Amino acid sequence: MPPLIRALLRDMAPYTATDAGNAVDLSDNTSLWGPPPAALDAVRALDASALTRYPPTPPAGLNAALATYAGVPVNMVVAGCGSDDLIDCAMRTFAEPGDTIAFASPTFSMVPVFAAINGLRTHAIPYGPELDIDVDALLAPRPRLIYLCSPNNPTGSALPSATIERIVANATGVVILDEAYGEFTSTPGFSLVAHSERLVVTRTLSKAFGLAGLRIGYAVLAPSLARALETVRGPYKLNAAAVAAAVAASTDGLPWVRQHAMEAATNRDRVAERLVALGLPPMPSQANFVCVPCRQASRVAERLLARGLALRVLRQLPPVTPALAASGGAALRITIGPWPLMEQLIALLQAEGATCE
Ligand SMILES: *Cc1c(COP(=O)(O)O)cnc(C)c1O
Repeated sequence: MPPLIRALLRDMAPYTATDAGNAVDLSDNTSLWGPPPAALDAVRALDASALTRYPPTPPAGLNAALATYAGVPVNMVVAGCGSDDLIDCAMRTFAEPGDTIAFASPTFSMVPVFAAINGLRTHAIPYGPELDIDVDALLAPRPRLIYLCSPNNPTGSALPSATIERIVANATGVVILDEAYGEFTSTPGFSLVAHSERLVVTRTLSKAFGLAGLRIGYAVLAPSLARALETVRGPYKLNAAAVAAAVAASTDGLPWVRQHAMEAATNRDRVAERLVALGLPPMPSQANFVCVPCRQASRVAERLLARGLALRVLRQLPPVTPALAASGGAALRITIGPWPLMEQLIALLQAEGATCE
């Protein structure tokens, strides 16, 4: 009897996210400021026909709004059901099963999963001790795909523009640059993509834009690549509520989004100082979270959960920095939110005498 399920799936389990329950959720880097009010208004204003009819495909109004935001022509934008969807689709669009995807580790945990499901081999090189990338090692197998994440999840580190440019200039295939946290720092993706035939920049409305529940992401790429990616993505991946909210968030809601992204960046740097003072120094971050190498990450997270704050525990990260080596690859990843919440976090860590030893 032939097996009913593909062999590679036998050792895989569905992704599950822990439910923070009644706790304040600092575990998944979504916005703690809520959605932009303009987006909430747009969803509330949907009429019955928006629910019964298919949304427009392609979502021309949304593509236009995102193109204006990115500063690119509209034929360079492909929106999808979260940027996860577009990263997954990009693997099927730009690589054959059996081809290689290269990336530096640790990075976004979904990448090796999507790679396996799409039949790709992975070439994972460790980040350097300064969270730099050994470009020659990355390029060595002449991979059909390269995945870069900047700022990177879970480290928070951003790649210098020169490194990204060097990788793109020497790549033999497509380079995916995941800028999910691009709003919390300045990132080069949108300006680089205008000059490259092989660069795919992915962005999301799940983080700075506060719309993770509606599942909206997009890719910015050369028009010829965009057509192919759009074909693979297929129609109707974005629902009517998502389209309405995303248009509002990326137009009228933009000042609100920018203001809160700036506040997140300011709070991140203040939290980092406080953590250093507590003896829990985080890795330098350009995102809306900080990553604290901590041998006792599980125990600290358990204690804080009991006091109403959910943090993400990372286990077995590759020990690429001295601090990660010292923690045995364990770390806490903490989402940055409004300052009163951050004060609560610091106070709890202090009260619990949270030490990572
Ligand atoms: C959160 C996150 C995303 C966003 O995923 P969506 O599917 O758009 O919600 C993408 N990449 C990274 C690295 C992330 O951390």
